[in-house]
Amino acid sequence: MASSRTILIAGAGIGGLSAALMLARRGFRAVVAEQAEQLTEAGAGLQLSPNATRILQSLGLAERLAETAVIPAGLSVRSARSGAEIVHMPIGAAMEFRYGAPYWMLHRADLQAALLEAVGDEPDIDLKLGTRLDDFAVHPNGITVQLRDSRGVTEDRASALIGADGLWSTTRARLGDASKPEFRERTAWRTLIPAEAVPQDMRTPVMRLWLGPHAHLVQYPVRAGRQINVVAIVRDRWNAQGWSAPGERAVLLRHFARWAKAARDLIETPETWLKWALFDRGDGGFPGRGPVTLIGDAAHPMLPFLAQGAAMAIEDAAILARCLAAPGSDLADGMRRYEAIRQPRARKVQREARANSRTYHMAGTAALARNLAMRMMGGERLRARYDWLYDWRPD
Ligand SMILES: Cc1cc2nc3c(=O)[nH]c(=O)nc-3n(C[C@H](O)[C@H](O)[C@H](O)COP(=O)(O)OP(=O)(O)OC[C@H]3O[C@@H](n4cnc5c(N)ncnc54)[C@H](O)[C@@H]3O)c2cc1C
Repeated sequence: MASSRTILIAGAGIGGLSAALMLARRGFRAVVAEQAEQLTEAGAGLQLSPNATRILQSLGLAERLAETAVIPAGLSVRSARSGAEIVHMPIGAAMEFRYGAPYWMLHRADLQAALLEAVGDEPDIDLKLGTRLDDFAVHPNGITVQLRDSRGVTEDRASALIGADGLWSTTRARLGDASKPEFRERTAWRTLIPAEAVPQDMRTPVMRLWLGPHAHLVQYPVRAGRQINVVAIVRDRWNAQGWSAPGERAVLLRHFARWAKAARDLIETPETWLKWALFDRGDGGFPGRGPVTLIGDAAHPMLPFLAQGAAMAIEDAAILARCLAAPGSDLADGMRRYEAIRQPRARKVQREARANSRTYHMAGTAALARNLAMRMMGGERLRARYDWLYDWRPD
């Protein structure tokens, strides 16, 4: 495998596939080792804001993704108890005009399929499914990686290693970081409902965010409007690893017993729910060393209260490829520069997401004050608070 331009990427999630594409476009050869035998339809709906969609556009994926992406007209924030709208934030054309790229609501599998298709078209990317990164060693001329597949363990050489291996990153552990992701006492429940199973007003391209005590509910159409993605996040102590544990509808309904009928009806509609526990990390930073670094959830897992985990993985990939391709610097230097650029932004987004986790789940008078503040601020100003996030550009 070894060549001075071969980079091994552990993990073919959104971050790993994006990094492979960006590196190949800058003249590197990328080998992506993914432990899963197949990249199946894991995950749920995903919101992608302009800071990420502009990068996907630059990769030439806009046309492919536009086939299934839904552009929300706006975000409707609603009160859980009454169902009434607290504030409406315009998105759609207003956001595209302001930030120069669209806001998309997608199924994660559609994004992964588009990235995979582009990866398949790149002769300089080698995707090895069913191949797990077990370990690595750094030496003066690059790294040796230990890869495990169905035939056993093999050793391979590369110039550098990118750990895009998610929340429970092996690369991070092998870099010597013994800390663990922190459980934030919340679980996310998700389901997809055929559009025809929900009332007409819920099929419109609007993202609805219902805020209630210790819980919130997000609902929006995906897959060109054919399915409705619903995510319910509740306070909970269940904290197993993984994305797809079955969740009992009756248990979920108990969290929403006193919510508006429209919200309860939505939760009652699907037969099956999957749930996963929510973790992030403190502001620990990137523990990169030599020609090894981390991207995406491996580097900075975050709570989904700002809908930015995938977006940050895509941003990471864009900046890392630029830093590695910069003339006159070696790969390790490029990786340190990448980490220095990304750390402050990733930390800020992690902190904002954590702050939203408290604000969204307020109860009693605190919730009343929050609703009043949102109403007074209005949708335009609410959105403008996030200019720093959405108006970001890799250059
Ligand atoms: C409820 C919820 C809603 C969300 N909503 C949004 C949203 O609207 N917008 C948004 O931007 N983000 C959202 N996110 C976050 C987003 O899904 C993640 O941040 C993003 O998928 C991280 O991508 P990644 O490539 O870093 O990691 P992952 O997608 O976890 O990919 C890691 C890959 O590495 C593989 N792997 C692991 N270990 C190894 C190994 N040792 N060797 C080889 N392969 C390995 C795994 O099999 C996996 O394929 C949400 C998250 C949750 C929980």
